[in-house]
Amino acid sequence: MKIMVLNCGSSSVKFQVIETSLEAIEANTDATLARGAVEKIGLSDSRLSLEVPGRKPHQEIAEILEHRAAVERVLKVLTSQEHGILADASEIEAVGHRMVHGGEKFASSVLVTPEVEAMIEECVVLAPLHNPHNLRGLTAARSLLPNVPHVAVFDTAFHQSMPPRAFIYGLPYELYTRHAIRRYGFHGTSHRYVSIRTANLLRRPLEELRVVTCHLGNGCSMAAVDRGRSVDTTMGFTPLEGLLMGTRCGDLDPAIVSWVLAMEDVTLAQLNAMLNKHSGLYGVSGVSSDMREIEKACTTGNRRACLALDIFCYRIKKYIGAYAAAMGGVDAVTFTGGIGENSALVRSHTLSDMAFFGIELDEEANVSAPPGQEVLVSRPGTRVAVAVVPTNEERVIARDTVRVLGRVMPSFAIPGNEAPR
Ligand code: ADP
Repeated sequence: MKIMVLNCGSSSVKFQVIETSLEAIEANTDATLARGAVEKIGLSDSRLSLEVPGRKPHQEIAEILEHRAAVERVLKVLTSQEHGILADASEIEAVGHRMVHGGEKFASSVLVTPEVEAMIEECVVLAPLHNPHNLRGLTAARSLLPNVPHVAVFDTAFHQSMPPRAFIYGLPYELYTRHAIRRYGFHGTSHRYVSIRTANLLRRPLEELRVVTCHLGNGCSMAAVDRGRSVDTTMGFTPLEGLLMGTRCGDLDPAIVSWVLAMEDVTLAQLNAMLNKHSGLYGVSGVSSDMREIEKACTTGNRRACLALDIFCYRIKKYIGAYAAAMGGVDAVTFTGGIGENSALVRSHTLSDMAFFGIELDEEANVSAPPGQEVLVSRPGTRVAVAVVPTNEERVIARDTVRVLGRVMPSFAIPGNEAPR
């Protein structure tokens, strides 16, 4: 069945059409038929891009003022004779939506009903920068494709299995009961996907494995995945906590916030921007938030770029140790995300001198790891396997959509069955 996956941000709608089914999930043969994005929504030069495997990429520039118009445009290009892949929008049998925050209300993906939409609305307060846009896309897609089921897949849901000792902060407990302030964690679809793929790569059941997953992109987080369940993760109440990221500071003494407010001429909003947008690799190096630029600058002798790289890797190393302790051992460390998948230097620097821990990188395999492929880069026979697994959040969303529908609308699970209209 053809699933459309939507990921709506403040000024963008990213989409994919994925052909999948319960059998294809089992065989790992689901396929992306088309992918693309509408960017710069709200401006006069909004851009729609479409990529179809085996064809030249297609682009359109036109004023697209809001999310409904963007989704409408996506459906139009997908069904256009010249560029499309569908004869009619009714070929889309279901839509999977990426939702950033599900709070404590959602521990798994769900079929969207009016009640579910209202519950997602209640989570807006927890993610005011993300959930409103996700919701806008959801509402638009439901009105444009009213006869197909819509499924919401949450970034936070996978981490709902964390025990209280991992998610309660050392703050007055009332802040949790009154305002739901706790660790939620993000990138859940990615951590879940790569831990499953790691088990597959090792040909061992996930239920036997303790995996530390490292999602290193512009945003970075790690998770302790104990026999398939997330038991801890580095991002917290918001995505600001944990690792050093492209522009986010990660772990910090909270007293620094009031100190800087008192000592520098900045407003709270400016301080927030400082922590989220002007810190991390960018803030430390003064060069860039982009790891490729950092690596280049460090190689040519920029000391602050080298320092940023060093802090970046050191934090990952510390959390590997912490999560191994939390799980009573570790069987695999998995790298994913733009940096995790592509930077042999980051993997090598992070895992240096960890033989005492059972981690020994095969430097040759590490450097020659082919982009886009799932590979082991540890020395054969080492106690802890090191894996590189490209993440695919859209595929997880499409798969979850099929699974949820198989559960709540069993006719969906049977190949060849017509989708209910
Ligand atoms: P996002 O979190 O926005 O999805 P990505 O997962 O695409 O981001 O990761 C972006 C990061 O990956 C950037 O810091 C980029 O420099 C880094 N990256 C991509 N390719 C390489 C590479 N070959 N070597 C080092 N870093 C890379």
